[in-house]
Amino acid sequence: MRIAIVPLAGTRIAEQIFFEIPGYFPLDFKFSYLDSLPIPVKSFNPERKQYDSTVLMEFLKDVADSNNFTKTIGVASVDIYCKNSSFVFGHAELNGTSAVVSVYRLDGDGNVINRGIKEVLHELGHLLGLKHCNNNCVMRFSETLEQLDNKSINYCKRCLKILKSKNI
Ligand SMILES: [Zn+2]
Ligand SMILES: [Zn+2]
Repeated sequence: MRIAIVPLAGTRIAEQIFFEIPGYFPLDFKFSYLDSLPIPVKSFNPERKQYDSTVLMEFLKDVADSNNFTKTIGVASVDIYCKNSSFVFGHAELNGTSAVVSVYRLDGDGNVINRGIKEVLHELGHLLGLKHCNNNCVMRFSETLEQLDNKSINYCKRCLKILKSKNI
């Protein structure tokens, strides 16, 4: 399993998150860190002044396919949304190839890096087939910083067992 972390209009935060991820991820995957790519212009919605996470995921899927990565996770510095929500911290397709995380709203009081790590682990869990989990687990759904800060940075036993069963 080759996973690439791709900074989109990258910041140093994306790089710091990348260095921390292998320490928190329980399986022996190879993580690569790509050079920062510009945000695709077509993902920008001028009315909302935000970027469409679905368009970014399509772009990141192409990056995976053309570089032989199994999965790609973009870490964007801009504000992202998906159609039914005013914003998202991250978006992934279940069992999909690509996911995107935004650090735009993770700033403020608290640890941005820690929040970013949780978001990347959460979206990676979705890419590996994990659904939302009600345990104190990184796969618990969170849409506010408070919920994000209150959940664990680890996969719970149940999710870990599912992940291990999929270790390809
Ligand atoms: Zn989720
Ligand atoms: Zn769980």
